[in-house]
Amino acid sequence: MKITAVTPFILHVPVTGSQIADSTHTISHWGVVGAKIDCDNGLSGYGFTGTHAHLPGDQLVTRCIETCHAPLLIGEDAHDVQRLWLKLARNPALQWVGRAGITTLAQAAIDIALWDLKAKAGGVPLWKLLGGQVRERVRAYNTDIGWLSIPDDQLVDGARRAVAEGFSGIKIKVGSSVERDLRRLQSVRRAIGPDVTLAIDGNGKWDLATCRRFCRGAEDSDVFWFEEPTWYDDVKGHAALARATSIPVALGEQLYTADAFSEFFAQQAVHWVQPDVTRLAGLTEVLQVCATAHSFRLPVAPHAGDMSQVHVHLAYAHPAVQVLEYIPWIKDCFTEPAEVVDGAFRLPQQPGAGTTPTADAWARLRQPTA
Ligand code: MG
Repeated sequence: MKITAVTPFILHVPVTGSQIADSTHTISHWGVVGAKIDCDNGLSGYGFTGTHAHLPGDQLVTRCIETCHAPLLIGEDAHDVQRLWLKLARNPALQWVGRAGITTLAQAAIDIALWDLKAKAGGVPLWKLLGGQVRERVRAYNTDIGWLSIPDDQLVDGARRAVAEGFSGIKIKVGSSVERDLRRLQSVRRAIGPDVTLAIDGNGKWDLATCRRFCRGAEDSDVFWFEEPTWYDDVKGHAALARATSIPVALGEQLYTADAFSEFFAQQAVHWVQPDVTRLAGLTEVLQVCATAHSFRLPVAPHAGDMSQVHVHLAYAHPAVQVLEYIPWIKDCFTEPAEVVDGAFRLPQQPGAGTTPTADAWARLRQPTA
């Protein structure tokens, strides 16, 4: 399975409604920025990272794929996922100038495309290649009803609707003002009752003092986790908050390396581990994070940067994964969408990683890569 071509691509996919906001960003589209890898056996693999769909930034990723990573891949055997991961991680064109960031996102896209190819070559869905199904169902929690841009009354309606659709978990955004966010949290908890898990996500906006003040008011609402309460890389701050509140701390969607996760584990600064195949350098690195988390007996809840297309395979195959985020924006761009039925993700059946775009999405949503 020799690699014959590596072609970058960009899709811009509309979000639910015209736009959504969390505490730090307002976006109208999700960027699916990736690589198509063709092989001499006729198979093509697809992998992608997730962006906020700003074309100049997206084109830095595609340029990195095309000019720096692709030349190292042509002629290689696509089966050799781990060896090629190391080759790209040590890419002499990049290691000195970018051990994290755009280069990592570009490598993520390639690594995922290689896993997609390997599963397709074996004729199996990726979860089978990863060792097989270790759980009956992967519980989904709904984030798409909880944006900070949703008015209070619609937030409560959306939460009720998600529960009626079968979701046993939801997540709402915080990070505006402590008073407003506590009011929203309490009204959602009242609306959904005690049996549905209710997580909150601050997207790193608040400082430690504000987090503490919020947590004092939130502890009565049975919060499942507080995600990214403070700045993404602040190990000491998260460790201090974890000691100060009974609410579990979740994080990881903004971390680029397994080493970064290890520091949070060592300092007992995180309870729920949220790696992302589109942020770390692909599934290969995420598997290491999951293994390390599992060795600390920490549960994993992958972030939906891939909107669960790849993560659903991981979640069915890895013993550390407990629950998976659901945001439906891009699922219909793929030949096998990550669908939720009765509150659980459907077990994928098609060979591959679930990353093959439909012909329609490919024709309709593509953007120029340069
Ligand atoms: Mg988040």
